[in-house]
Order: sequence, then structure tokens, then C-alpha cells
Amino acid sequence: MVLDEPGKPLRETELPDPEPGDGQVLVEVSACGVCRTDLHVVDGELPKPKLPLVVGHQIVGRVLGGGERFSPGDRIGIPWLGWTDGECRYCGSGRENLCDNARFTGYTLDGGYAELAVADDRYCVPVPDAYADAEAAPLLCAGLIGYRALRMAGDGERLGLYGFGASAHIVAQVARHEGRRVFAFTRAGDEAAQSLALELGAEWAGDSAGTAPEPLDAAILFAPVGELVPAALRASAKGAVIVCAGIHMSDLPSFPYELLWEERVIRSVANLTRGDAEEFMALAPQVPVRTEIEVFPLEAANDALARLRAGEVRGAAVLMPPRSWVASTKR
Ligand SMILES: [Zn+2]
Ligand SMILES: [Zn+2]
Repeated sequence: MVLDEPGKPLRETELPDPEPGDGQVLVEVSACGVCRTDLHVVDGELPKPKLPLVVGHQIVGRVLGGGERFSPGDRIGIPWLGWTDGECRYCGSGRENLCDNARFTGYTLDGGYAELAVADDRYCVPVPDAYADAEAAPLLCAGLIGYRALRMAGDGERLGLYGFGASAHIVAQVARHEGRRVFAFTRAGDEAAQSLALELGAEWAGDSAGTAPEPLDAAILFAPVGELVPAALRASAKGAVIVCAGIHMSDLPSFPYELLWEERVIRSVANLTRGDAEEFMALAPQVPVRTEIEVFPLEAANDALARLRAGEVRGAAVLMPPRSWVASTKR
């Protein structure tokens, strides 16, 4: 499924099989998660995507050949961070997520809305056995960038999650595992998201414009809505950390300084490091994180994106190419 131009639907087509270059593995895609970032790319909200482009950066598949780290048949995940230069000041200080020349799967590199993909094997991760292919796909971005956002939110006990979709539904489980209390903020009246949050251990779920029964020590904003920043500050306790976890957000409105006063912090989280990926993939089966997924055949990628845009996906949307889709419906 190819993006020819932002703002247009993806086009189903046959492409030549990708050839793995030096250090790259060729992977038969079993499942690819649909991320809000995919929507931002397709809608033209992120600058300079590769075009034409295969989007998708939560890829689970089996190695067919190439590279050095894996053997044919190994099941691996291909995440968002696809390549770094290893030599800029950020790479040199353990912050490859901020690399000046980073390349990203499904944005500046072709991704996983396809039957085959190639990837630099240094950035791929083994997928824990506990998960079926489609269940594992959302771990690769919703999970591990959500996990990075949770780390950046500090140790606060009372955690607010704004936008209870693919990422929040995973982060809530990790936070509960760490003994935190979770408060879920959704669009007004989004009962499906609120009930999912309560099922996954949130002690309260309500409208994102309001406040929880107690002030928050930390909040993570997954919804790309700038107005939520002052809303989260209003709902927060002294010293709270507000983390903006998305790659794109509408403009932040101005707000009185008193909302930020008392050592509240606003920060963003960008991308991931290989360390984040390894840490989270080891942690997920221990929690154990269970993913709530809605599976679509690959050729229905535009429908999956439309449902995500409309806030109609419960948990995470996942695409499966024809071969895996047929196998999964027979199971
Ligand atoms: Zn770098
Ligand atoms: Zn993503």
C-alpha cells in the first residue's frame, strides 16, 4: 500500500521485491501496526517524507535472509528508528533518538504496509514468544515509545494518560505493574475508551477537559491536541511532569504562568533508542502486557487509518498481508 502524495489515499500496487543492502535483512511481513504517526505522514503533517512511500513502523515478520544478526526464520520486529549515523553529538552521548541524520521506518525509509520489507538489522529486535504476530505489532511503537514517555514522566504515583488508544492502553498496564495509579482522560463521552481504561486498571476515566478526583504527579499526552497541555497542567500537582508523546500536535494555546509555576515541567519525547526497544521487549511479557487489537487485511489500510482518525479503534489497529490474514482467520 503506497503513499504517492500526502493527502491522498494509499494505493494498492505490486512493487518489485526489495533487495537487502549491506547489513540489511529481508523480512516477510506477518503484521504491521497502525500508528497515529502514520496518519500524520499520510495527512501531510510531517515534512519531507520519502515519496512514493510504504508507511508503517511496527513490523513483525520472519527473516528470509541478509544481514548478520539474525538467521532465516527468526521472528523479529522492525521499529521506527531505522538508522543513525553513529557519529553526531547526539549519537555520541547516548541519545541516538535525537540523531541529526536519523532515518525512520515508514517515513524516510520504506516500512511495513507491505508483504516484504528490508531493514538494517542493528535496529531490529527479537519478538517475545509469548505474543502472536498481530498482538506483538503494537509493542513496537505504541509500546516502546509509550514506555520511553513513561520513563520521562518520572516516578510520580498518580499518572494521567490523555488519549486512551494504542499507546495508553499499553502504558497503563506497565504503570499498574510499577504500582502507580492511573487516571484516563478521553474525548468527552468516549465510553469505549473509558471502559477499556477501567478494564486495564485505571481507577478513574473521564473527559480530558476536566480534572481527576486527585491531582496528577505526571501526565502523558498521546492525543495530538495542544489544548490538552494547559488542561493537564490544571489537573496536576506541584512538581508534575507533563510529557507530550506524539510527533505532531496542534498549537499550544497561551496560558497563565501560574499553571506552570511550582516546578511543573512540560517536555516532549522524540523517537526511541535501541536500548528502549530492548528494555521494553524484555519487560512486556513480564508485566505481562496484553494488547487489545483490531485486525484489518493489508488492502484495507485506508479503512484502518480512517477509523483511527475518527477515534473508532479500540486499542490498536493492525494490518496483516494476505498470507498471514488467511492463516489467522483459519486459526
Ligand atoms: Zn547521530
Ligand atoms: Zn509510531
